[in-house]
Amino acid sequence: MARRESTAAGPGSRALIVDLIRSSGPISRVELVDATGLTQPTISTIVRRLIDDGVVRETGDTVATGGKPRTMLIINSRAAYGVGIHLGSDALTCVVTDTRGGTVGRSLVAGPNAGTALGGPAPGGGTGSSPGPAPGATGSGATGDAVEQLAALYRDVTEGLGLDRQSVAGLAVVGPGPVDLARGGFLAPPGLPQWAGLGLADALAARLDVPVLVDSDAAAATVGEFWSRQVSRDRTFGCLYMNSGIGSGIVLDGSLHRGSSSNAGKIGHVAVIRDGESCPCGNRGCLEMYAAPRAVVHRARAVPGLADRLRISPGDPDARAFDVLARAALYGDEQARALVAESAALLAEGAVTLVNLWDLDTLVLAGPGFVVAGSIYVSEVRRRLAEHSYTRDVHSVRVELSSNPRDAAAIGGAALVLQGSVAPGHGPELAARG
Ligand SMILES: [Zn+2]
Repeated sequence: MARRESTAAGPGSRALIVDLIRSSGPISRVELVDATGLTQPTISTIVRRLIDDGVVRETGDTVATGGKPRTMLIINSRAAYGVGIHLGSDALTCVVTDTRGGTVGRSLVAGPNAGTALGGPAPGGGTGSSPGPAPGATGSGATGDAVEQLAALYRDVTEGLGLDRQSVAGLAVVGPGPVDLARGGFLAPPGLPQWAGLGLADALAARLDVPVLVDSDAAAATVGEFWSRQVSRDRTFGCLYMNSGIGSGIVLDGSLHRGSSSNAGKIGHVAVIRDGESCPCGNRGCLEMYAAPRAVVHRARAVPGLADRLRISPGDPDARAFDVLARAALYGDEQARALVAESAALLAEGAVTLVNLWDLDTLVLAGPGFVVAGSIYVSEVRRRLAEHSYTRDVHSVRVELSSNPRDAAAIGGAALVLQGSVAPGHGPELAARG
């Protein structure tokens, strides 16, 4: 089954072979010949280079096939490490993964808006958090403080793991869009004005002496799920990402579909209510104005007695209040359940749109919004797709929950730099800012 990329032994062939080894697990040279349509000498040459470069290694196992035993190949998990920092309004999360996407280090510090209202406590972001550096100092030099906070978080994690500069493929800073790739930053991330308009990539690359890229949280999470789940490039893979907003990403032929400015997939800004509430994006009636955690919490606060009963205080950040609400929904609280179910129904409509646009065969739900009540959302999306997707009589769509929805964007950031490093041709051009 020859593919269109496989007609020449150029850089695309190297990326293709890395991707096949990544997604297939142990695979032999002969199987690579069968899968790519490349000749045996070409495969041998490329594999030899990949082994010399440390990207691929032989497992030591051989498979007897009746003829010559076949040596199996896998990605060398220690070929390079990727670092991803996710900018959230309540927490900054830094994750380090090995080349195969396994998390080897994680640190979390309070974000700019953590517990600011009424002095609420810093958020718990899951397990394995470390104290990390203090949030940016007050006073002048806010830009430098914001950059230094990220730099300090990076140093804290990589030095804690004893990683030297050479073993780090790069750093990706990911957050809510729109992203401004030309400037290497974010235009106006909702709830994060301190990051707006900063040239983060250049400033961090200069401070840390590593290649740095910037991308949206949804795009990163998509690549991360694709990479760490060992999804085959044959699949038409999508990811719905829910944090403060709702975004999505699509991987086609092993590459993230970026659109003209790397802002593709903003399913949260598809209008679901004609002439509905106006959205900061400029549109009206956007999906995320009704289905995202912030909207659900807003409605919950308007239900008499509900917030008090669930002990959601006026100063709780929306993300934390949503987790409380989601847990109550999961445990059968009828009012909470109704609110979350409405959000899930709207999100499922977004999933149908996404599947119909791209003819997806796999869809993963990722992001902090799915940490507690992910099962409710997955069930509703599955049900809706089975009844309403355009292709339901042609093929089913696999819908799964991320194995680490909270860290999915940070893990995805690490995957973005690794993909750009070990399988160039799929990922963004990272070296430009090195
Ligand atoms: Zn909008």
